[in-house]
Amino acid sequence: MTIRLKRGDRLVLATHNKGKLVEFQDMLKDFGLDIVSAGDLGLPEPEETGTTFIENARLKAHAAAKATGEIALSDDSGISVDALDGQPGVYTADWAGVPRNFTNAMQKVQDLLVEKGATEPNQRTAQFNAVLCLALPDGTDMIFEGLAPGMLVWPPVGDSGHGYDPMFKPDGYEKTFGQMSAEEKHSWAPGKEGLSHRARAFAKFVKDVL
Ligand code: IMP
Repeated sequence: MTIRLKRGDRLVLATHNKGKLVEFQDMLKDFGLDIVSAGDLGLPEPEETGTTFIENARLKAHAAAKATGEIALSDDSGISVDALDGQPGVYTADWAGVPRNFTNAMQKVQDLLVEKGATEPNQRTAQFNAVLCLALPDGTDMIFEGLAPGMLVWPPVGDSGHGYDPMFKPDGYEKTFGQMSAEEKHSWAPGKEGLSHRARAFAKFVKDVL
């Protein structure tokens, strides 16, 4: 399925995560879409029962498209740590517990890395993954994937961004996502690839859909 969105078209952002919502609103601000979020509409948050980022992105986008009868865009993302065999991966949000506490979640990652003896930078590589799903109420969809490789620092530095940002230093940079402004973290502009996993997936979305 392919679809093009134009200025004035409505788009439901299928997320209840405030941090992601802010990033999406920021990246979409110049396209003139009429944006509303699943959280603002009071839609129930679907259970993320998938075992891959793609499955979970599909679950969220289709739930929102079905509930509203409108086009919905979701994001499923997470961080995969090489020394932890790719964990927490699709279960990244769950590692923060309920209610979510990312100070504890980052500490858990650090404790496991120390247990494995992963104290040198080259033993602490990780990647952020993002999968965007654009779903239509008729059950069809489009998928866009983005990846940001980097390494994990300790202690966490910076208070920008959200989630695991303060402990993630993207390749080629001497600071963490937590020390970057929103503009720098996305580094996204028409025709550019972007820096964050979400921005890189978003660049593909823009190329094909906007
Ligand atoms: P989900 O996509 O709702 O399953 O949540 C993924 C989790 O990954 C979020 O709750 C964040 O903790 C984490 N995450 C995803 N993207 C980022 C990011 O850009 N920075 C920091 N943490 C992120």
